[in-house]
Amino acid sequence: MANRFADTKLEALAIGFASHALLDAIPHNDEALEIALTTAIGAALLTHQVMQREDVDWELFLTGGLGGILPDGEHFLKRNGFIDRSLYPSHNGTIKQPRTEPVWALWFELGVAVVAFKVGF
Ligand SMILES: [Zn+2]
Repeated sequence: MANRFADTKLEALAIGFASHALLDAIPHNDEALEIALTTAIGAALLTHQVMQREDVDWELFLTGGLGGILPDGEHFLKRNGFIDRSLYPSHNGTIKQPRTEPVWALWFELGVAVVAFKVGF
């Protein structure tokens, strides 16, 4: 979606980075392996689909996507002892992350994907 609202890669990166907090505020369940796999496969298919379109600046699209997943790199750093505490607002409790059952998480994530696709393209 960042590709629609950004003119530069830095703007796309910032929009993606900030949007991560909004998405974390929607009920989800990334700990469930089936949800994580479904989300990853869905993101890969969406990316492939978008990159076929000539009316989309795919560099801005990918940069926005990178900005969107960048905050979760903090989980890797924390689990492996590189940092002691999370800084990103939706990871340190400043913005609450509602959890839900995997089946509901899947429906919420599907709904978000549909809205993002409609708004973003
Ligand atoms: Zn997150």
